[in-house]
Amino acid sequence: GKISAEDLVQDCLLGVGNGGQVYKTFHQPSQRLMAVKVIHLDVDIEVQKKILLELEILYKCNSPSIIAFYGAFFIENQISICTEFMNGGSLDRIKPIPEDVLGHMAVKMVQGLLYMWSLKILHRDIKPSNILVNTDGEVKWCDFGVSTQLVESIAVSHVGTNAYMAPERIKAENYGAPSEVWSLGVTMYELATGEFPFEELTSDTNLLNVCNSILEANPPVLPENKFSPELGDFVSKCMHKVPQQRITHPDILAHPFIQKYIHEGSGKSRNIIASWVKSNI
Ligand code: ATP
Ligand code: MG
Repeated sequence: GKISAEDLVQDCLLGVGNGGQVYKTFHQPSQRLMAVKVIHLDVDIEVQKKILLELEILYKCNSPSIIAFYGAFFIENQISICTEFMNGGSLDRIKPIPEDVLGHMAVKMVQGLLYMWSLKILHRDIKPSNILVNTDGEVKWCDFGVSTQLVESIAVSHVGTNAYMAPERIKAENYGAPSEVWSLGVTMYELATGEFPFEELTSDTNLLNVCNSILEANPPVLPENKFSPELGDFVSKCMHKVPQQRITHPDILAHPFIQKYIHEGSGKSRNIIASWVKSNI
């Protein structure tokens, strides 16, 4: 059934992002915990309808590596987007991640993206804060940009500072699965080292500087003394500046770094991720 505001009991604030706040929320009819993202949007009824309609595609996205969508509604000029709650939070809070744990997580991340790409859905905002984990050892993507209208409406009132953008996106040439592969590479580098591989966005720099460093610098390579050659190669293959030379999406699954962990079996993977999440929340 549809989710309505009266059925929701708000718990604590989970985090604040660029466009809104995310609350831990209890949904009484289903007795389920949810994460409800509340975004202030000054748009008319027609635009509201369009956003809600576009979000409905998320009902059809069923994958163990994609956050479940429960529904969305407007109350006056605020949209509430209800999704599955993940008790381990997002990976931007718990990095660096040891390589063996990250390997198991990477399998799930890649499987989730491949599933969405197979449905012709691009994420559009790949970064550590949009990867969630829980103490069951699950790893899931959230915040897919499925509603163009929502993305545009948020952009009107909030500055999108996405430093994970591929060179071709910065140059506004084209955006596709290869651009997501780039962002996955940046994300993997950051999760492995704990550090963003380009000039950081701080009060001393701005997005223009970061973009320049992405366009001009040689893509960073992981230090060889700290990480396996397989992980180093994976990150480098994702972060080729020329999109046509990047690892293509079907080959990602066949890459030795992913293959190393995919064979260990999902039960073992889950245990390794679960125990790491438990010791880090
Ligand atoms: P940005 O707004 O720049 O994309 P962000 O991804 O951190 O940054 P939000 O998407 O608003 O911003 O999320 C805020 C925080 O809420 C996240 O960093 C995450 O820690 C937490 N969060 C989001 N969704 C969930 C969820 N389903 N379960 C648990 N925590 C969540
Ligand atoms: Mg987010």
